[in-house]
Amino acid sequence: MDFRIYNTLTRQKEIFKPLKPGEAGIYTCGPTVYHYAHIGNLRTYVSEDAFVRALKFFGYKLKRVMNITDVGHLVSDADTGEDKMEVGARREGKSAWDVAKFYTEAFFKDYYSLNCLPPDVLCPATDYIKEMIDMVLVLEKKGYTYIIAGDGVYFDTASLPDYGKLAGKSHIEGIREGARIEANAGKRNPVDFALWKFSTAEEHRQMEWDSPWGKGFPGWHMECSAMAIKHLGETIDIHWGGEDHVAIHHTNEIAQSEAATGKPFSNYWMHARFLVMGDSGKMSKSAGDFLTTSSLPERGYDPLAYRYYCFLTHYRKQLEFTWEAVEAAARGLDGLRALAARVRGEARGAAPAVDRGSKYFMAFSEALADDVNLPGALALLWETLKDASIPAPQRLAFAQEAEEVLALDLFSEKAEQELPAELGALIKEREAARKAKDFKRSDELRKALSDKGVLIEDTSSGTKWKLTRG
Ligand code: AMP
Ligand code: ZN
Repeated sequence: MDFRIYNTLTRQKEIFKPLKPGEAGIYTCGPTVYHYAHIGNLRTYVSEDAFVRALKFFGYKLKRVMNITDVGHLVSDADTGEDKMEVGARREGKSAWDVAKFYTEAFFKDYYSLNCLPPDVLCPATDYIKEMIDMVLVLEKKGYTYIIAGDGVYFDTASLPDYGKLAGKSHIEGIREGARIEANAGKRNPVDFALWKFSTAEEHRQMEWDSPWGKGFPGWHMECSAMAIKHLGETIDIHWGGEDHVAIHHTNEIAQSEAATGKPFSNYWMHARFLVMGDSGKMSKSAGDFLTTSSLPERGYDPLAYRYYCFLTHYRKQLEFTWEAVEAAARGLDGLRALAARVRGEARGAAPAVDRGSKYFMAFSEALADDVNLPGALALLWETLKDASIPAPQRLAFAQEAEEVLALDLFSEKAEQELPAELGALIKEREAARKAKDFKRSDELRKALSDKGVLIEDTSSGTKWKLTRG
């Protein structure tokens, strides 16, 4: 079955054709770790997770890279203003490095509470300063840059004929006329962007590095290009992010990557539309008034009710958040779990291999293949589970396959299964690494456990685990 995905670059659904048959390399813009992630951010990650699981469902071997923005994301998109990490450090009276560590951990706690699969490679920007400098040097050598004294090294967008192709020419023209980004007087063009920023004497930055241009730090867009290319190659299959990244961040990733390599950067660009608040509209991290995943259990909801809620609306449609809708989603998820339990009871636990030629399996696959139509896939699961004309063991087998994609803990008895000693030892080792604040090792162990089908969740009452495959 052809997997059709909507490609922002071409503005149409296209059949996914990977660079290597049967494999897919995916890059995701990760969180800026100066504050908690809000539930809007997590809509994007939940959408991507379902997409990744759909790729697995269709048999693809994946390599997923996610960055952690722990430096260089400035308060203003015009490459001016303070670094968000330094703002976080001042707000909390901690070092910028400690702020990054704390909110990276907090992010993954939320991320895993929503049953999102761990990325294969997790890269904090501060670990890739050399790669970024090297890339700026290539751009400089090829004549794509200019320097604004006392400010930074800038990308000259006029030197790239197809600059702005992701957002569309008219959109970029609008920005060029100064409509959207406040002007930075030194720029040749309002859409030019910083590749490397210079530290200034007044600023007293905590995070800065030596470079051929003196002390400074990377421009925000640089990290994603340098790390995607390093881990996935000069051309990658798929790049993911939220819709706000189309016009600036991803546009600039494309410009600098393609100028440096002379090759297309990513063949497919996928974007989740925003989650908005029903009453106040935008949810903003920098304004500080936002809901996090932990506000769900605080109100008595399973975080997975939020995952289910996300699935009720297609990822390319705006999602309006209200607590009434979460309540309805929570009831829906309870109902689905009860139905799954009933079918399992009827099947007496025996699940044969799923009937891949059956109408319902084909229809479920077709829904996923149609740009990850989860509302459709969910409706089909409900219908099939209720359909008494299908033998219960068949329905159970189907629901288990669907659960691999939906990851809604439809069969919570998995959590009660016994864990082989070897896996128990890995969990203990991970707990020790976490206590020692060795987050790199603990993330490696989490990944190793996930590959063996064990999902780890860090809760306030300690580490919990569950099996993701029975
Ligand atoms: P940030 O931590 O601000 O770098 O954003 C992390 C991810 O969340 C990015 O992919 C953003 O595009 C995405 N994002 C930000 N706000 C929202 C929102 N309200 N709804 C959905 N995704 C969002
Ligand atoms: Zn990015």
